[in-house]
Amino acid sequence: MSALVVRVALPVPIPQVFDYTAENITQGDLGRCVRVPFGRGEKTGLIVALPESADLPVERLKPVIAIQREAPALPADWLAMVEFTARYYQHPLGEVVAMALPPRLRKADAVAGTEADPLLEATPEGREALNEARRDSRALAILRRLVEHGPRRRSLLREEEGALAVADALKRGWIAPGAAADAALMDGAPELTAEQQAALAILSEGFGSFRPFLLAGVTGSGKTEVYLRLVQQAIAQGRQALILVPEIALTPQLEGRVAGRFPSARVVSLHSGLAEGARSQGFVQAMEGRADIVLGTRLSVFTPLPRLGLIVVDEEHDASYKQHEGVRYNARDLAIWRARQCAVPIVLGSATPSLESWHAADTGRYRRVELASRAVAATLPRVRPVDVRREKLQHGVSEHLLRAIGRCLERGEQSLVFLNRRGYAPVLSCPSCGWVSRCPHCTANMVLHLADKRLRCHHCSHESTIPLACPDCGDQDIQPFGRGTQRLEETLAARFPQARVLRIDRDAARTRAQWEALLEQIGRGEADILVGTQMMAKGHDFPRLTFVGVLNADSSLFAADFRAPERLFQQLMQVGGRAGRGELPGEVMVQTQYPDHPLYKCLEAHDFVRYAALQLEERKQARFPPFAANALLCATAPEVAGALAWLGEARAAALPLAQAFGVQVFDAVPMRMLRLARRERAQLLVEAPGRPALQAFLAEWSRLLWSIRPPRELRWHLDVDPAEV
Ligand code: ADP
Ligand code: ZN
Ligand code: ZN
Repeated sequence: MSALVVRVALPVPIPQVFDYTAENITQGDLGRCVRVPFGRGEKTGLIVALPESADLPVERLKPVIAIQREAPALPADWLAMVEFTARYYQHPLGEVVAMALPPRLRKADAVAGTEADPLLEATPEGREALNEARRDSRALAILRRLVEHGPRRRSLLREEEGALAVADALKRGWIAPGAAADAALMDGAPELTAEQQAALAILSEGFGSFRPFLLAGVTGSGKTEVYLRLVQQAIAQGRQALILVPEIALTPQLEGRVAGRFPSARVVSLHSGLAEGARSQGFVQAMEGRADIVLGTRLSVFTPLPRLGLIVVDEEHDASYKQHEGVRYNARDLAIWRARQCAVPIVLGSATPSLESWHAADTGRYRRVELASRAVAATLPRVRPVDVRREKLQHGVSEHLLRAIGRCLERGEQSLVFLNRRGYAPVLSCPSCGWVSRCPHCTANMVLHLADKRLRCHHCSHESTIPLACPDCGDQDIQPFGRGTQRLEETLAARFPQARVLRIDRDAARTRAQWEALLEQIGRGEADILVGTQMMAKGHDFPRLTFVGVLNADSSLFAADFRAPERLFQQLMQVGGRAGRGELPGEVMVQTQYPDHPLYKCLEAHDFVRYAALQLEERKQARFPPFAANALLCATAPEVAGALAWLGEARAAALPLAQAFGVQVFDAVPMRMLRLARRERAQLLVEAPGRPALQAFLAEWSRLLWSIRPPRELRWHLDVDPAEV
């Protein structure tokens, strides 16, 4: 047989695939890992096509070194998905593959064990034996377990009870493989409320076709309970369910709930905290159809699932679905693409949906399903703004807030002081009249750059000097939002010496184990005052937490990023949802200089619908997403001048195209210095009337970008649908 051409995606930072020759290639080798010569060394890549002919004459192609045939090939729909990701996010395919594929799978010694993993159940003989047994044995213990809790995967039983005992019970005929649909058995599920039932009825109609749903339900309305019923239905149909959750911090709780609910199903959990071996193993179990439920963070959207029947995206608005380095994909958006590709329903759930999804529901692209009341009787917390304009603050905290914490302490309950760090690009403001450093040319706010003492608009690049006094009222005390909260923890400890103050942020909870330990500590009531950042806003239940005080909220109100107010609203709704989830009623205080701002008014009324309508109207006026589509071209260099010069060339190359596609390409803007990397950053914004126009433009432009020779040490990337502008 003559040599054939294989096209290989390699993990190299150029947008190109590479052709090699190989003997005895079959269609089955598509999607297999392959070792090839590259430059002076070797690399491992993935076979992404078996083209009829190569771009180069075949004689000039090198032969592959080895094709890895021990592990199963990645399926065609998976290849289609990584190819789409590479195209949409303008990223080299080989790097997308390298990210999406667990490292072990790329190696030749890959993953062992592709045997079937049946559900074992007790046989009638077994039940009889159990009744008659006099003495206990390992095999009998297994039997009893299956009789009491229903069928269980062989692999799980082996792990828990020992392989010998399982083999023994099988040999005696006490246990045997049962029906696959048994994986849908449910343990300890509460009866659904009427509202949940109605929602479930609508969502269940979606099975068997691409149907996007937006499940909008207030915190505690029982969305998770509804997902679990849907998952059950999917499994009962012999399908797999993919559940995406925002962050590693949230997975342990949900993982326990899912595994407990489906004792016979194989639940695979995938997140960045996993060891490499476990990640590869879970990936293969999913790919071979042995996993019933895959629960994971954004990366798990790339899990191959041959029997996929349902996708759930929990907290769909969460910013952590967007990856901020490397391949800058959005897992929620890719999940929608995947649901369409596989013709399965997808449920996006949130108490505070993203404005993109809300708008999609407004325009009928998604079907909206609502849960308006809490599943277990508990009233929503009372929310009110605290006007700090005329109050002297102690390291950023008002007397109002301190007194509320004091009352909470006296009642023996927990309080949370929530520090809003998001949108902390320093925008100047005046404490007496509320003036903020708005850009005179567009709807954005100007950001303070202390390095060269300028105010800069990150949207249109307009610049000015820093005013010495407020241009409106003359107050000389103008300052950036968000100062003076650093010593918050100490301030609280000094005011309440008898209280146990616990700080919860990324430093205190770096690993999953640390985070779980903290959660348990709080759950046991071993802390009185919690001081936390965004991590605390996520869905945890702390029954004794009844008061939440919010600092620095205003910095998001007037941030340079147009999405900051949306995030703030979502976050405050979520934080508010933490207060008073148990029997005790909750209270939320938000410190602000703008107590009459519509955002706070809507928050007081728990009115997401009105807030979303107001924001969408603003976005429409300003032509921000979802009424436009954006991309950022970012460059970093040791000196910002180098980055600006390169971006200038990139912009020049874009201008003829921009006109053809109806796209606007703004001037490059220097960003504030990145302290860590000791590099300076600049970026330019591309604004298109919609995603199709943006995609068409980017496809052409990125080709040109690769051909502009960057100066030494300059790095650049495109960020499509950036989370922050
Ligand atoms: P959400 O995901 O909307 O925040 P959950 O599904 O986590 O809500 O439910 C909130 C709380 O209410 C959980 O403790 C859950 O066990 C409970 N719950 C949900 N649905 C019901 C129900 N139908 N009956 C009793 N308790 C319920
Ligand atoms: Zn501007
Ligand atoms: Zn003023």
